[in-house]
Amino acid sequence: MASSITVNLMTHQTIARQYDLYINGCWTAPQAGRYRTLCNPATGAPLVTVAEADVADTRRAIAAARTAFDAGGWADMPPGERSRLLHALVDAIEARQAEIADAEMCNAGCTWRKATLMDIPVGLIHFRHFAKLADFDPLEPVPQITFPALAYNVVRREPIGVCGQIIPWNFPFLMAVWKIAPALAAGNTVVLKPASYTPLSAIKLVEAIHETGLLPPGVLNLVTGPGDVVGPELCVNPQVDKVAFTGSTEVGRTVMQQAASTIKKVTLELGGKSPNIILDDADLDVAVDGSLWAVFMHNGQACESGTRLFVPAAIYDPFMERLLDRAARLRVGLPEEGATDLGPLISAGQLQAVEKYIGLGIAEGATPALLGRRPTDPALAHGHFITPTIFTNVHNQMRVAQEEIFGPVLCVIKYAREEEAIAQANDTIYGLAAGVWSANIERAMSVANRLRAGTVWINDYHMIHAEAPFGGYKQSGLGRELGVWGLKEYLETKHIHVDLTRNRSDKFWFDIVAPQA
Ligand code: NAP
Ligand code: MG
Repeated sequence: MASSITVNLMTHQTIARQYDLYINGCWTAPQAGRYRTLCNPATGAPLVTVAEADVADTRRAIAAARTAFDAGGWADMPPGERSRLLHALVDAIEARQAEIADAEMCNAGCTWRKATLMDIPVGLIHFRHFAKLADFDPLEPVPQITFPALAYNVVRREPIGVCGQIIPWNFPFLMAVWKIAPALAAGNTVVLKPASYTPLSAIKLVEAIHETGLLPPGVLNLVTGPGDVVGPELCVNPQVDKVAFTGSTEVGRTVMQQAASTIKKVTLELGGKSPNIILDDADLDVAVDGSLWAVFMHNGQACESGTRLFVPAAIYDPFMERLLDRAARLRVGLPEEGATDLGPLISAGQLQAVEKYIGLGIAEGATPALLGRRPTDPALAHGHFITPTIFTNVHNQMRVAQEEIFGPVLCVIKYAREEEAIAQANDTIYGLAAGVWSANIERAMSVANRLRAGTVWINDYHMIHAEAPFGGYKQSGLGRELGVWGLKEYLETKHIHVDLTRNRSDKFWFDIVAPQA
């Protein structure tokens, strides 16, 4: 596939630039004057400095969003007008797509190939879809009501209010779009907090929107800063009506607990340990390459990665021979090089965590059929690089098979009967996604139906569409993103009842006695 984004800036010209908070339509310095330096995960080189908000800054942003919402104008803008405005915002973001792709590569370690083929174009498609969905009819009919008398009933969909939105570092641009676009489409106002490692593409996105001058001040606010400072304020502040969080299950649990203090609406997109099941009639070539893509896309730093691969005993040997051969050919390298399959991990901490899990898998008795190592290429010496690991002889109860590693580590589990594979696939606290590979679609569908996961891909993986819902069963989350399902998560439901009889005798009212003469 060829990229339509051809300009590779690669100049890193943003070095030495300092980025402020975006509050009430203005770029504004953090009140304590603190900034943090971002580094390129592939080279360790400093990139830019970014504001570190504290609680007072977060409250300023929340107050701006509250005022913008309560003032109306945005929340009650006619849907068609809001839709046109959002389309214009996407045009502005699209005009800066090469710069955003560059930010994604330099800041998040995304390969240039993936940024320009997937993350940026897909993010634009998703934003445009919400711009289209913004033109919805807020009134929904209710079946005719005749008891106790004829009445006209209607449901009105309204924005929820101020939305606090918290996103992770793995797909910074896409995650920002998944949060901002449906919230704005529904007429809410937003305070977005990107991950501390990767705020740059969200900053570029907000810059592009700001330059249009189309959005009323306070409708969209961007607060960069520490998760354990900005995050709790967004969760407990009574001025915030909803919290939308994407990140780890561990932090998601805290978010839900904190949001409970004011009964905020909560949506959570959390972790995963997704099963990828090969059936014995699968096309070997397709299933092998598809399985490598399922687990190693963005180095396994994807919530939905197919990290547990179930391979039937009947085809185990030829499948594994091919899988190991193909995996050993994956190229780890600098993200800007077109031939690179796997770039760096996000941080030194993440690299150490992955190495610890590799050691743990060996200690648990799994066989490292392909053992991940730090590459020896001097060009990669200052980045957080590691080559892929494939464990065989894995038992589903091993920690490496149950815990989210978030790195290029695949656990292969051999199975004899389909029933056994399905039972083990479901034996996890997570339920985000799954894959099934088979030449028989009916058979694959019957397996898909039995998997406890929010998304199941048959003969492909990582296909996330603007029109279809994405989200988790079990501890992988609460609610759905994308499509009309994603939009509804940002809408309140108001029932309006209109009496059509005026007949006193149809009412359940008090039978108030007439005054005594
Ligand atoms: P994380 O550690 O949970 O952090 C996610 C976000 O929460 C960051 O912005 C973080 O800020 C913030 N945060 C940290 N502490 C907080 C607190 N006490 N209250 C509120 N917010 C807080 O996750 P991550 O390490 O960035 O990302 C990896 C995880 O995200 C994985 O578990 C992955 O599965 C999950 N994920 C899920 C989906 C999905 O759609 N289901 C998509 C992508 C990723 P700082 O960066 O400042 O710490
Ligand atoms: Mg984290």
